[in-house]
Amino acid sequence: MKPADPDVIIRSEAAYRDASVVRDLVNAIEKGLTPGRTLKIMHVCGSHEHAVQQWGLRSLIPKQVEIFAGPGCPVCVCPSFEIGEALTIARKGAIMTTYGDMLRVPTPYGSLLDAKAEGADVRLVYSLIDAVRLAKENPGREVVFFSIGFETTAAPVAALVVRGGLPDNFSLLTSHRLTPPAMELLLGIGDVHIDGFIAPGHVSVILGANAWDIFPRAYHMPVVVAGFEPGEVLLGLLMLARQIREGKAILGNAYPKVVCPEGNSVAREAMRTAFDCVPAWWRGVGRVPRSGLVLKPQFSSLDARERFGFCIQPERNELPPGCSCHLVMLGKIYPSQCPLFEKKCTPATPYGPCMVSQEGTCLIWSKFGKPF
Ligand code: SF4
Repeated sequence: MKPADPDVIIRSEAAYRDASVVRDLVNAIEKGLTPGRTLKIMHVCGSHEHAVQQWGLRSLIPKQVEIFAGPGCPVCVCPSFEIGEALTIARKGAIMTTYGDMLRVPTPYGSLLDAKAEGADVRLVYSLIDAVRLAKENPGREVVFFSIGFETTAAPVAALVVRGGLPDNFSLLTSHRLTPPAMELLLGIGDVHIDGFIAPGHVSVILGANAWDIFPRAYHMPVVVAGFEPGEVLLGLLMLARQIREGKAILGNAYPKVVCPEGNSVAREAMRTAFDCVPAWWRGVGRVPRSGLVLKPQFSSLDARERFGFCIQPERNELPPGCSCHLVMLGKIYPSQCPLFEKKCTPATPYGPCMVSQEGTCLIWSKFGKPF
């Protein structure tokens, strides 16, 4: 095996955690760097941050390469006012269901866990299917699924909506976001410097690698789709380092075992049928054009906002005072640079949203420790 050769490594499944392969990839990255130039690489995925920290990749790679996490945690970017909508519905007596990570997210209106403590019927589910089952088991109650996440969770929701046959007492409070528009926004922020993107492998399964082609084409920004094993992340870094050294900006795919250029056409069609694409707020980031998904008018009977007839207005300043989550989510600082990190803000007592979710950068850093 020639570990420095991406084409060879990519075909060897077992190699992705092999210490010698990892070492050779690190050496290849070092050789692939432009002398004297620091590279700032951004990923936009909690799972990538998890892999980077779990495997200590920041400590392994040359100091010249900095990996920053962008806004890749759907729980973290979910705006307070949308959690406020979920709280309002729960306090009106509906059964509010959502993923476990959402329960503890702090907002000016409290958290869903607070509402549960007050007596609201808030339930943790593992999937939309569980929520639908709950609706069937409780025909006399309204059951709402607070449906958050990026393309990976939006696609199965879209499939069920399009298929139809959902119970009459079931509705969706959607807070889905699309990843590429947020990445485009980052490129327009003057003080956010990025030399290359690692694109999220699982989102790419749905959208296809071609979804990222806009970055090299329109912004001369190198992009490589990467998987989540240590060797896969390093392979992505290597492919980026080589591009940058050669002055190229092209779309690379370091995850071809599951990501094809076109993605999952059935999933994409379901999303196109179920959702309209609208401007949307990202907590800590701002309003991002064409980055939110709302149910199309023909599915309004499934829309909890229609059913419960309300709309909470977005707040501009929606992070708690002193919280640096916006800087973490824009890749401007590492979590350990927030003055509250592991002091006022800990996994047991999260102050900002990035310390709540398993995909939150601050929680991941707290779990695996700072790189040395
Ligand atoms: Fe936000 Fe807490 Fe992270 Fe600071 S340590 S950025 S307050 S989540």
